[in-house]
This record gives sequence, structure tokens and C-alpha cells, in this order.
Amino acid sequence: MPSVRPNIAEMTGYAPGEQPQGVAKLIKLNTNENPYPCSPKVKAAIGRVVQAGLQKYPDPMATAFRTRAAELYGVEPDWILCGNGSDDILTIVTRAFVGTSDMVRFANPSYLLYRTLAEIQGAACDIVNYNADWSLPDEFGQGNDWLRLVYLANPNSPSGTVISPERVAEFAESLPCPLLVDEAYVDFAEEDCVGLVAANEKIMISRTLSKSYALAGLRFGYLIAQPQVIRELIKVKDSYNCDTISIAGATAAIDDQEWLAETRAVILATRERMTESLCGMGFNVVDSHTNFVWCTHDNTPVEPVYRELKKAGVLVRYMLYPGWGDGLRITVGSDEQVDACLGLLKGIV
Ligand SMILES: *Cc1c(COP(=O)(O)O)cnc(C)c1O
Repeated sequence: MPSVRPNIAEMTGYAPGEQPQGVAKLIKLNTNENPYPCSPKVKAAIGRVVQAGLQKYPDPMATAFRTRAAELYGVEPDWILCGNGSDDILTIVTRAFVGTSDMVRFANPSYLLYRTLAEIQGAACDIVNYNADWSLPDEFGQGNDWLRLVYLANPNSPSGTVISPERVAEFAESLPCPLLVDEAYVDFAEEDCVGLVAANEKIMISRTLSKSYALAGLRFGYLIAQPQVIRELIKVKDSYNCDTISIAGATAAIDDQEWLAETRAVILATRERMTESLCGMGFNVVDSHTNFVWCTHDNTPVEPVYRELKKAGVLVRYMLYPGWGDGLRITVGSDEQVDACLGLLKGIV
């Protein structure tokens, strides 16, 4: 076995939620995919580029998408950087700002990829626990000599909770390094932090088309930041990190804001119903600003509940955060999927 760098040998690697292949009947509520098909305009746009042929390299900067996204946010296209999913964006940002022996910070419990990205760089992790009410302590915004990057999933996963833009701005003010606000779920929330970017070059916003636009299989994400920051990040990305098909699909997707608004409304209504029903069964459900709900139960351990559901063909995400606790993260699926899950839960708890 040739020797990899010691930090790679020591790390476990990120474990994504289960993606069972070819199990048609399974109800999949474990990775926050959108249960509805994407906008028909996306399929049409993809059909057109495939028809035209794929023999040429794609546009390295995904100009068509940047232009449309810039219009949507009222910025110039050079404030946008596109990636192969927002995980690619997180990787680019980490590689640009974080080196060996540097330090990153993120909250706990949160998105587990932040740790993996830091470990790949050989950087240290400063992990700040959420308060019991899912607010963050002032410590989250405190600097030190090693800190190079702070990640904040907002809305957070697995809790579905939000930190207000005012509070995010406060953290960014006091931090000595960039603050990457991961807004993967923000289309299901009421507020976002895009408005903060113009006032503070340390704030970067990452977005994805995987959840709200129902395009997890397409792989497209993007970053909003000031142009001098984007210019540095371009040096780090792969030349052709987005392909012709994903650029065409993603551009058509953000062009169809009507589709987004309609789908969002349906998912929020299901979320409401799901939350009420789970509370009625004695689950503690955190008020969600995303397309999933996080729940724990005072009288029933939830790990066996996850296993029972799986046996019955419903996959949810069981999350265990060592030293913190565990819970179930259940995606807001279609009404039919959610009813099947709720029906089984009634029989289990
Ligand atoms: C799903 C998710 C992402 C990654 O999305 P992709 O664009 O599919 O890579 C990033 N951050 C959080 C918090 C997520 O839940």
C-alpha cells in the first residue's frame, strides 16, 4: 500500500446518506431530495443541448447561469461562481483558504462534510455546540491566530433551524476570516443572507439546485461573493467543473421561479401537517425552515424506530452526534410518502 498523507490515512471520510440502487418500492426520506419532478423547462433545455451534441468542452465559467443568477440577485455575473453541486463549491473555498495546520470552525450538530473537508487539508477543527434553543454562542464569532474559515449551514441540517441575518452579520464582523454561509435549504426559509455580501467581503453564500429545484442528480451549485474573492477561487476550481448538460439544466431551473414558488408551497404545507402529526405522537419536533424535520422522542429511543421504518420500506436518516445526542431527520416527501411514514410511526411509538 503506497502511503497517503498522514491526515488522509487517519480520517474516516464522509459517509453520505444511503442511496439504495434498484429498490423501487422504498420510500426515500433520508437525503432531503425533492419528491417532485423538476420543471419541464429543465428537461427541454437538457434535450436541446444533447441534441446539439456534446463534442465540445463546456463553458468553463457557466456564463449563461451566472448571468441569470446575477439578475435574480441584483448583482453582476462576476459575483457568482458555479460548481459541480454545492459540495464542489465548499471544496473550492476550503482549498483556497485552508492549509495544513490552519483551523476551521463549524457548529455542532451540523453538516458533517465540513469536518471531512478540513481533514483533507490537514487542518484542525474548532467545533462550537449550538445552545439548547439552537442559537449560537458569541464564541462562534471569536477570532484566533489560526482560524482561516468558518462554515455555517443556515438553515442548519439536521435541526432545520435558522440564525437571523443580523446575527450572521455580527459573526462576520467579529471574525478575522471568511464566513461561508451554506444556504442549501434557504428556499424553504423566510430570510436569506445574500443581502449581506455587498457590505462584507468576508461573507460568502453557497447555494444548491439539489433540494429546492429537485435536481440532486444533475449536480449544480453556486457561490455568491464579492468579485475579488471569486477571482481567487477561479484559480482553484477544475477548468470544466460544470458540464454542458448541467449548465443548461440549471439555467432553465433558475429561470422558472414560478415552478419553485409552487413546489415550495406544496412542500411547506406537507411540512406543517407532518410536524403536527409527529408532535401528536409525542415527538419533540423542532420548528423547521427546510424540507425536512428533526425529531427526538422522550420515551422511545429513535435508533430502533429508524430500523423498524427501514424494515417496512421507509428510509429516514438516523443521526448520532457523539457527545451530543441523536435524532431522526425525516425529509418532507410527497403527501403519500409522508402519510405512509406517519402511519408506520403511529404503530411503532
Ligand atoms: C445537501 C447539502 C449540500 C450539498 O448539496 P449538493 O449541491 O448536492 O452538493 C450542502 N450543504 C448542506 C447543508 C446540505 O444539506
